[in-house]
Amino acid sequence: MKKEKKEIRCKDVEDFLQPYLEDKLDKNDTKLLIEHLKDCPECMDELEIRYLLYEGLKLLESGQDFNLKAELEERLYQSEQHVLMIDRLKTSAVLFVVAMGIFGTVQLVLMMVG
Ligand SMILES: [Zn+2]
Repeated sequence: MKKEKKEIRCKDVEDFLQPYLEDKLDKNDTKLLIEHLKDCPECMDELEIRYLLYEGLKLLESGQDFNLKAELEERLYQSEQHVLMIDRLKTSAVLFVVAMGIFGTVQLVLMMVG
């Protein structure tokens, strides 16, 4: 069968993902898959889910955690901005609770005095 340059579609990606995860996809097909993933966030998401499931299963089978840990660290690094934003929100929430506490104490003192 003659191989020629072609593009794969979303419905074809399904057939590529598992071989890719198992390192069984040949160079040509890997290139096609990567090219599609660069332009298709939906399929990239699908790969991420498959990757985590696949690595998770390997983790259960082997009892080792190096791949998943590295993946997790990479993901955490990538969402750093997100986390920083959440931290700022948490700080605001703490300040709000402290402020309400002071407000409540002041009201209580005023009630006792009045
Ligand atoms: Zn796609």
